[in-house]
Amino acid sequence: MVWFKNLILNPLLKSSSLSSSSSSSLHKVKPTFSTSTYSILTCLSRYTTDVSSASSLSPQVVQGSGLGPTKAGEKPRVVVLGSGWAGCRLMKDLDTSIYDVVCVSPRNHMVFTPLLASTCVGTLEFRSVAEPIGRIQPAISREPGSYFFLANCTGIDADKHLVNCETVTDGLDTLHPWNFKISYDKLIIALGAEASTFGIHGVKENAIFLREVHHAQEIRRKLLLNLMLSDMPGITEEEKCRLLHCVVVGGGPTGVEFSGELSDFIIRDVHQTYAHVKDYIHVTLIEANEILSSFDDRLRRYATKQLQKSGVHLVRGVVKDVQSQKLILNDGTEVPYGLLVWSTGVGPSPLVKSLDLQKSPGGRVGVNEWMQVPSVQDVFAIGDCSGYLDSTGKPVLPAFGPDAIILAKLLEEVTLVNFPEMSFFVKVAERQGKYLASLLNKIGKAGGGHANSAKDMDFGDPFVYKHLGSMATLGRHKALVDLRQSKESKGISLAGFFSWIIWRSAYLTRVVSWRNRFYVAVNWATTIVFGRDISRI
Ligand SMILES: Cc1cc2nc3c(=O)[nH]c(=O)nc-3n(C[C@H](O)[C@H](O)[C@H](O)COP(=O)(O)OP(=O)(O)OC[C@H]3O[C@@H](n4cnc5c(N)ncnc54)[C@H](O)[C@@H]3O)c2cc1C
Repeated sequence: MVWFKNLILNPLLKSSSLSSSSSSSLHKVKPTFSTSTYSILTCLSRYTTDVSSASSLSPQVVQGSGLGPTKAGEKPRVVVLGSGWAGCRLMKDLDTSIYDVVCVSPRNHMVFTPLLASTCVGTLEFRSVAEPIGRIQPAISREPGSYFFLANCTGIDADKHLVNCETVTDGLDTLHPWNFKISYDKLIIALGAEASTFGIHGVKENAIFLREVHHAQEIRRKLLLNLMLSDMPGITEEEKCRLLHCVVVGGGPTGVEFSGELSDFIIRDVHQTYAHVKDYIHVTLIEANEILSSFDDRLRRYATKQLQKSGVHLVRGVVKDVQSQKLILNDGTEVPYGLLVWSTGVGPSPLVKSLDLQKSPGGRVGVNEWMQVPSVQDVFAIGDCSGYLDSTGKPVLPAFGPDAIILAKLLEEVTLVNFPEMSFFVKVAERQGKYLASLLNKIGKAGGGHANSAKDMDFGDPFVYKHLGSMATLGRHKALVDLRQSKESKGISLAGFFSWIIWRSAYLTRVVSWRNRFYVAVNWATTIVFGRDISRI
């Protein structure tokens, strides 16, 4: 089939309308072949057995293609890097009658992260927590100058107002990735953060992080596989215990919420559906310090009691080494596991670290009070990847709060320590996105939308963050709600069933679209009535 595919592919590519870098300016890339032809080619490629022929699948893409600078009279272009909370909130509120919007991200949806843990055990379906970008900002799929590009940003040239990107493809079955460039008038860096492993050996290879929908899918498949394998004839008692030992490392909100969901799943569903192995399955939560350290003592004690009541085994310890079937604590204790979920906090991604821009304490992109990177023109940063510069003298925001800074400093010296997860701030990212959208709209209306045209403009009121409280669910219809500005100040803090109702109502109202709100409500109702879905699809 390879010869047949090449026969079709090459003539097509030669007659394609790809822009060429031989011209001095950049051009918009046009599709190289029709969707139907493309589908045929993709289908055909499934039959390929000769991997060495992969290079023949590469499109003859001319390096340096992309989107050139906008001209006077055209709409200015806002380029948004990342499709997370911050980037999506910004795109939603951006006035597309003033700007063209181009989003670059390796995923074409936003993930509603607070509900991601629920998808691992089937309380919610995966699509209920994923919102397509085209629904958040319809202009991106309709306006002639607005685009979503499934790609990774690989670098920024702030002097030339250029972003370098590399396409995300699906391996040999589709196309080889290629590079392209986009000129921007305004650039928004909203790249988020990456899970921290603190350099502990074996974490990346053996543990699963819980940050994306595909992580939740991996956790679910592994959990259900282990349940089924442990019920097979011939499996030893020892192996059965290992397979059904689920270990969560990190006692921050994500680790606790996942442990709670898992124990709820075990009590409600595994006991009925996998009765043969129900006494073997256990959850262990390992934390170096206190669990849920951002909550006060009373709420923490409640959470500890509640988790223990649900059968979660809490271990105070520091992970030293992770092997494929066991992890080792620093006191030498060996902990065999069948499923290992790692949730010990986040730090700046390698790309953010590599950017030649000012950095805040902790290594994030440094911004001033208007979310602007002050050393360069037209570049802004929001969400988990950004932090106030020391020079602002501003009190730190929770997303880059004291814990994060202490952690960043410690990381330079220590590698074998677990810290509670600290970057847990949808609210900060979302409000920064909303603030920056209104600032850009204002700049655009005042004629400062194009590159280098807002140099001396007064940006008006700076961004102000008011912390409205924190919540965490513990499973078994229990949650913590703390509506105080800080754990020392006065105000409402609750724990128990009523808090759980508040937790669910709050998140249901915050799900981005009515479609997903409906999915979430239906999933919750179905789970209550019929139990969780346990099919391994
Ligand atoms: C499981 C989980 C549960 C959470 N629960 C809560 C909660 O209950 N409450 C709360 O306040 N916070 C919670 N958080 C934290 C919250 O999700 C983050 O603070 C928030 O997502 C930050 O938004 P962001 O836009 O900065 O980054 P993200 O939402 O992480 O988005 C980053 C985006 O950048 C993209 N990207 C990455 N690299 C590149 C690249 N090279 N080029 C282009 N794009 C790139 C990513 O694909 C992604 O689209 C949770 C986080 C997780 C993982």
